[in-house]
Amino acid sequence: MHLKSPKEIQALAESNRLVAEVMQGVKHLIDVGAIPKEIDRWVEKAIRERGGTPAFKGYRGFPASVCFSVNEKVVHGIPDHTPLRDGDICSLDIGVLYEGFYGDMARTYPVGNVQPEILKLIRVAHESLDDGIRAFQDGNRLHDISAAVQARAESAGYSVVRDFVGHGIGRNLHEDPQVPNFGRSGTGVRLRVGLALAIEPMLNLGTHEVEVLDDNWTVVTRDRKASVHVEDTVVLTEEGPKILTRLPEAAPVA
Ligand code: MG
Repeated sequence: MHLKSPKEIQALAESNRLVAEVMQGVKHLIDVGAIPKEIDRWVEKAIRERGGTPAFKGYRGFPASVCFSVNEKVVHGIPDHTPLRDGDICSLDIGVLYEGFYGDMARTYPVGNVQPEILKLIRVAHESLDDGIRAFQDGNRLHDISAAVQARAESAGYSVVRDFVGHGIGRNLHEDPQVPNFGRSGTGVRLRVGLALAIEPMLNLGTHEVEVLDDNWTVVTRDRKASVHVEDTVVLTEEGPKILTRLPEAAPVA
């Protein structure tokens, strides 16, 4: 578990600012009829224009710059040419490498008119992320974050995915420790100033069970009910958790 120096935190903040700017821009492209593959091209261009490199493209052979997961897709969806339909939700996960440090974030966006129960799932996912971030405090334990995410999700009647987890982040996209979205508070490694984590709740409307499609990438819910994925990169400072993937000028999360 690598604790970052102030200088490293500054560099990490720049990488994550880049990814946050790209996510802010891509939000306006999500609409009925939009083509995920074209959105992926826009994302790659936006990352490269800012001097970054898409972190997911080529990662273990992943073919795109954005993981694009629609409706029952949980994570790792491959952007294709299927137009977005009214009532869809799509989770976009974007990773960048900039000057030696990684940025990583995800948001789930509604397309057109989305059923209220699905909009509520998105809202609770953000609340669970915020609860997790609030538990990221010096001296707390890792699973205090996990338990906070899980409690918020399950008390609203949703399930949390077990098979995929958040992670440390820095000069590597995935560093120790793993950050599950479930667990018992008071357990796990001690959290310390300088630790940087990508906290990423994945909430399902139905079962927490998932499976991988034949493309060997796309993760879907076993019952094919909707799933939401939100992720922020957060560093623990003397002043508490600092979210690196939210722009100061950005509107509050929905
Ligand atoms: Mg991540």
